[in-house]
Amino acid sequence: MTIPETIAIDGPAASGKSTLGKRLADAFGYLFFDTGVMYRAITLVAGQKELDLRDEAGVSALAENTEIDVQNPSREDGRNCDILADGQDVTWQIRRPEVEANVSLVSSYQGVRQALTEQQRRIGLRGRVVMVGRDIGTVVLPEAQVKIYLDASAEERARRRCLELTLRGEPACYEEILAAMRERDRFDSTRQIAPLRPAEDAIILNSDGMDADQVFENTKIIVETRLSADHITDERS
Ligand code: C5P
Repeated sequence: MTIPETIAIDGPAASGKSTLGKRLADAFGYLFFDTGVMYRAITLVAGQKELDLRDEAGVSALAENTEIDVQNPSREDGRNCDILADGQDVTWQIRRPEVEANVSLVSSYQGVRQALTEQQRRIGLRGRVVMVGRDIGTVVLPEAQVKIYLDASAEERARRRCLELTLRGEPACYEEILAAMRERDRFDSTRQIAPLRPAEDAIILNSDGMDADQVFENTKIIVETRLSADHITDERS
């Protein structure tokens, strides 16, 4: 069974998934849902509560008992939305380097994945959604109508992340970012549960040498073609 009007976007860190997902969601009038923020929020809160991040049972219990919410932006400081963890605004804190350094470990835990996947799937099953992450097309919404795997070389992704940080006025060292990104990708794609990989029926796009507009325009055509092809098939059957 296919869930109509669902778009799954997976891919490695900083491949441009969120930028693309947000633009597609706006273009089609769908909800944009970036699942990475949930793993980041649990990692942040675990650090705030001074939990031992190697304590799988403790971190999993935290994931089961923490309410993560995504709401319309309450401030004009460059955010697309507010990310709340038990009511606390964590929108910018979840982007900190200490969260980036630990999020892959936290998201490799079965209990954490189970708690968050359930919430993500509930939202996805409503349809009219663009959901972005690592395992959306393979695990969270294998029935998504359109699946995209957005890739780019590690060097290109590190350059983009560097530029993003510099534009926000934050310190950015290319070599450090590249090394941290490679490490996170390695961890995410070799973990036992829901590793990062393209679904068998995903459309694989490599965005090296393309800017955000080109990635969006190309993908929009692919998505439109897919949505209307399924529509014609539905009418005939
Ligand atoms: O996409 P983003 O970089 O914000 O994701 C942060 C981390 O959350 C990833 O490196 C990965 O470990 C984890 N993640 C995941 N499954 C998802 C989304 C994110 O394991 N669906």
